Amino acid sequence: MRVIRNPQKLSKILAVTRHKRRSIGFVPTMGALHLGHLSLIKKANKENNIVVVSIFVNPKQFGPKEDFKKYPRQLKKDLAFCRASAVDFVFLPSDKMMYPEGYSTFVNVEGLSAVLCGASRPGHFRGVATIVAKLLNIICPDALYLGQKDAQQAIILKKMVKDLNFPTDVKVIPTVRQKNGLALSSRNAYLDKKQASDAVVLSKALSMARSLFESGARDSARIISRMRKLINKKQQAKVDYISIVDLERLEKVKKINRDCLVALAVRFGNTRLIDNTVINYA
Ligand code: AMP
Repeated sequence: MRVIRNPQKLSKILAVTRHKRRSIGFVPTMGALHLGHLSLIKKANKENNIVVVSIFVNPKQFGPKEDFKKYPRQLKKDLAFCRASAVDFVFLPSDKMMYPEGYSTFVNVEGLSAVLCGASRPGHFRGVATIVAKLLNIICPDALYLGQKDAQQAIILKKMVKDLNFPTDVKVIPTVRQKNGLALSSRNAYLDKKQASDAVVLSKALSMARSLFESGARDSARIISRMRKLINKKQQAKVDYISIVDLERLEKVKKINRDCLVALAVRFGNTRLIDNTVINYA
């Protein structure tokens, strides 16, 4: 495994890889790697000759009052994790390399970036789209691996790849959860014991939404209200949003009459967790 910090150097090395007709799978991350990241890496390994993982806590996707400074950073552990997961290249750029002084170009996927998490985190998806566009230009992968855990992010990046003609397949990998249902997330490290056990209510609420749908419920407002009630039973839980939206435009669906995304964001203390499930109508 090689650790590369310089974007030009990585581009050069990977140009040789491509010339030899070896396929490249790319997994972008912010580090603090866990089994969710591992499932993306495994899939990338299965489907490609070479796997590139980037570790970069992207300052442009954090708001001024968000957790950029305290975001978990554990580089040594992450590198060992990548080595053990048969990663070929870890791309580890510095903030300055990605955003040198005077940096001024941004990618904004309009519409999709303004709703759900975008409404409570203005500028977040502009930061995400910008960094992923840059990484795609540096790495030129055959396939980009993303997690369903960040469903809105995956939908936005798919749209960006299509709109900007990146020659890359986007693969979305199912959410990896703890046995108790809690979706794995680097931010789970912020939770104390009580918050971590209370946060299981998020996956329970999503399961409840699916069960309600299966037993005939179609009215989104009623499903959401039941979910909200369940989540609000946990004292520390503060719902940011619970929404049922369509899978292409992320527009609110009043009556479920097609495939839908049930997405939520809930705070436990200072920690904001997100989770989602897809309801298949057909
Ligand atoms: P992050 O390091 O949190 O930016 O995540 C990097 C990638 O891993 C993103 O595509 C995430 O959607 C994905 N990911 C994070 N957590 C999970 C999980 N529990 N299951 C599957 N993919 C995940």
